[in-house]
Amino acid sequence: MFNRKKSLILLFCLAHMTALAQQKAVFILLDGIPADVIETVNTPALDEIARHGGYTRAYAGGEKGGYTETPTVSAPGYMNMITATWSHKHQVRDNAVKNPDYHYWNIFRVAKNVNPDLHTAVFSTWEDNRTKLIGEGKPEAGGTLLDYWFDGFEHDTVRFPHRPDRKFIFEIDEHVSKEAARYIAETGPDLSWVYLEFTDDIGHKFGDGHEMEDAVKKADNQVKRIWDAIKEREKQTGENWMVVITTDHGRDPGDGKSHGKQSERERTTWIVTNSKRLNPRFANRPAIVDIMPSVLRHMDLEIPPPVKSEMDGVAFIEDVSVDNLNVQADKNQLNIRWNAIIETGELEIYVATTNHFKNGGIDRYDKIATVAVSDGHCQVRVPGKSEFYKVLVKAPYNWVNRWVK
Ligand SMILES: [Zn+2]
Repeated sequence: MFNRKKSLILLFCLAHMTALAQQKAVFILLDGIPADVIETVNTPALDEIARHGGYTRAYAGGEKGGYTETPTVSAPGYMNMITATWSHKHQVRDNAVKNPDYHYWNIFRVAKNVNPDLHTAVFSTWEDNRTKLIGEGKPEAGGTLLDYWFDGFEHDTVRFPHRPDRKFIFEIDEHVSKEAARYIAETGPDLSWVYLEFTDDIGHKFGDGHEMEDAVKKADNQVKRIWDAIKEREKQTGENWMVVITTDHGRDPGDGKSHGKQSERERTTWIVTNSKRLNPRFANRPAIVDIMPSVLRHMDLEIPPPVKSEMDGVAFIEDVSVDNLNVQADKNQLNIRWNAIIETGELEIYVATTNHFKNGGIDRYDKIATVAVSDGHCQVRVPGKSEFYKVLVKAPYNWVNRWVK
């Protein structure tokens, strides 16, 4: 009797652990592919994934002309994706990545903080993604360690000789994507990032044209490898995988060789996912910063409130209350507007007049109003006068924030 009871408890625990371990995610960044290119080139793997979930146009570059404006450059784009903030917070504005502000936690740091048992991995053609952007192991980046990484091959000039045709980058992408597929199939890490570079290199070299189209087809084939591994894994284990594929920026509207500015073509990106739980945000031009909150939701990870209060992204899966927060200061009054997505319940509006967060400090938020989500706007008097406000809106299903200077 005792043994039977014990084994029942054990069974229950095992079932519970399995339920917790089932939500897995991988996000893949294919560098520098404009939306108009991904939409015209034949990409059977991306199409198949989108049939399970969806395809949408998205944007990079923050708010054009606004305080969140971010160069449509690679490293700032990756940092947008992994921290859910724009460059006014994470401070990465070029590929040199001199002084990132690690107080805005990346997705791996959040995941490990919430559940240290989660298994994390990075597969990348650019080592700096791990060493500089994630800041793996750096005390100032929280000392977060990945459980597995596969990168740095761009430094191996014996195995991958650097020739001007940049073919070696394709070879590294092949190497990296094969390993990602193998590792996912065999180990099933809870959270992984795959980064592939060749498309951007070809874009810089040839601009728009058949070379770029061919590079996109090659990238699609690399995605197929990883997607096949996920499908197999789901079949064998019953795990529930979310895959997100995106790009960091488009290309210039002239010949497509460059990027970095704020033209519509450089700002316009895209997202493909297999998630069946897409909300209206997904179809309404989400941003690259929306990927992190979406992935964390899929994994059922509750984001620590101080991190959540600074995230600029809104999840494009499951229920969300509001997006597109807009705040105008008028003397000692704030005019606050938002787009109500699920109109039920009330939201709370908080204001801070300091930004100690960027240095690792704490800001005091004062609650200034409670309003029905469905109202869509409100005017509130702010106590005291300030040159700077951080407005934080806590709605039933999500939080949004905005600065006013
Ligand atoms: Zn790029």
